[in-house]
Amino acid sequence: MTDPTGLIAYACKDGNAVGIAVPINFVLHGGSSQSDVNRMIGAIENSWSGKFGNFNVKAVVMQVFSSNESVNTVHVIDGYSLNGSFSRVKNNQHGLWFTRPSRPGGLDYPHEAGHLMGLPDFSTGQTVMNNLYTSGKPDKWEIQQAINNAVSSCSCGK
Ligand SMILES: [Zn+2]
Repeated sequence: MTDPTGLIAYACKDGNAVGIAVPINFVLHGGSSQSDVNRMIGAIENSWSGKFGNFNVKAVVMQVFSSNESVNTVHVIDGYSLNGSFSRVKNNQHGLWFTRPSRPGGLDYPHEAGHLMGLPDFSTGQTVMNNLYTSGKPDKWEIQQAINNAVSSCSCGK
């Protein structure tokens, strides 16, 4: 169920209706807790759900409790990044996320979730994938890219 890029996300598009599902195993470290995880999941689902262009998107994070090759793994670290760098994602599927977000409005997690969907940083525009000045919302092109990247989870195609 994984694709060769290591990307693990699922999308189903039926007309303008789009469902995106991202399975994540959150591994808690130090003083981090499930309430931090809930806050991260809420931020992601809130940012990535809505109307973008013609797309009507419902995004969900599926929290899973074991690591295997078909889920993303995110290590949740209590506090700030010690070296000042942001929460991050490597190889589209391994995250190191801090409970104290660096970006304005706590938008680290929706941005990092975009990387789990295989999206790169975009320095132009102020969409969710802008690595510094994210608005916290994707645009229709980012939704389309997420659909194109994801494993199609329904027979209606991409
Ligand atoms: Zn980024």
